[in-house]
Amino acid sequence: MSGTTQILDLNRYDPATGGGSALLQARQRHAGASSVLFYADPIEMVRGEGVWLTAADGRRYLDVYNNVPSVGHCHPKVVEAIARQAAQLSTHTRYLTQVVEAYAEKLMATFPAPLSNLVMTCSGTEANDLALRIAAANSGGRGVIVTRAAYHGNSAAVNEISPSAWKSRGPAPHVKLVPEPRDAGFLAAVEAACAELREVGLSCMIVDSIFSSDGIFAEAPGFAAAVAAVRAAGGLFIADEVQPGFGRTGAGMWGFARHGVVPDVVTMGKPMGNGYPMAGMVTRPELLARFCEETGYFNTFGGNPVAAAAGLAVLEVIAEEGLIENARDVGQFFREGLADMAARTPAMGEVRGAGLFIGLDFIDPDTGAPNAPKASRTINALKDKGILIGAAGLYGHTLKIRPPLPFSRENAETFLKALGEILTN
Ligand code: PMP
Repeated sequence: MSGTTQILDLNRYDPATGGGSALLQARQRHAGASSVLFYADPIEMVRGEGVWLTAADGRRYLDVYNNVPSVGHCHPKVVEAIARQAAQLSTHTRYLTQVVEAYAEKLMATFPAPLSNLVMTCSGTEANDLALRIAAANSGGRGVIVTRAAYHGNSAAVNEISPSAWKSRGPAPHVKLVPEPRDAGFLAAVEAACAELREVGLSCMIVDSIFSSDGIFAEAPGFAAAVAAVRAAGGLFIADEVQPGFGRTGAGMWGFARHGVVPDVVTMGKPMGNGYPMAGMVTRPELLARFCEETGYFNTFGGNPVAAAAGLAVLEVIAEEGLIENARDVGQFFREGLADMAARTPAMGEVRGAGLFIGLDFIDPDTGAPNAPKASRTINALKDKGILIGAAGLYGHTLKIRPPLPFSRENAETFLKALGEILTN
């Protein structure tokens, strides 16, 4: 997309640089053109613990970026659960096992009543792929509405609805893009997209309920009305909870609940197993049944006993350690600190977010225009100060602040101090 940023290009190592360590050369040789590494000078990581990562040179980094190790890197309870179950039974998913149903029971208790069926998968992509198929089977249409800098995954079908991953291509005829929700324009754009998709048949709208790759739009004005408009036009609503799910927003387990909507389909992944690859799709029984009348579905690894053990431990840690409350409290403290700094710093624009998911825009002080180079320089300067962070947004000018959930006020203060030093120099 011209003038906009491809999400995988943000803060990326440039392979044309050449040279580097033997490990870097091996990576480039093996992965070829598909290799995507963070930082101009990539980091070799050797250990993780809580909100900290340690590199091969012994340097410790404060992790303000990673949401997969959501309950903390290498959380002992999750590690122990995985090891214990792997040593006892690790098989495909066509036998009965206690741990899998114990997990499903506990997970499903976090959803509103109509959403009572769960299909477990291995990746968020697979969950979204299945969600699209369920929407198509039930709506009879194929048309999909997505936000213009969305990312939902990497299969052929899901890449069609992931504009932030497109390079030399545009949307297929069955996909309509709408802007991120800043104001009433969102509802109007969704209504227009519904009308444009009438011919191919509207299937669904799918959104990340905190609009992460769009630049983090936690408030999303007009969102609930847009969901109603999609339903009135015969489409389903899919909430992609891969980013906001599992307590990150500090307001319950799921991002959609903040908007007062109950989706037809919910997908989840990343933090679900705290690093063990697992994901899932939740929906109403009648929607799943309709799809299964048409096509059989089987997933060899999705929701295997080891995944279930990992997932169960994650849910227990979230409750035992009060991580949702921590996300709410530290997130608010963090946002206030950033807003305070933004008021004194012309290069800092809006601060948006919920819980421990915060977007901070960098702008040109004179024109207010997005300033992606400033975001990129800040990311690299923070790395030099031992802090890991990333970028997001249509123009790549938004700092994506998304640490593991045990992040403390002290950790937030460390970040604020470092950012202040960088921006005043
Ligand atoms: N949905 C969202 C919102 C995501 O951010 C991602 C991954 N970045 C995915 C889906 C795809 O998940 P996975 O990489 O596990 O396939």
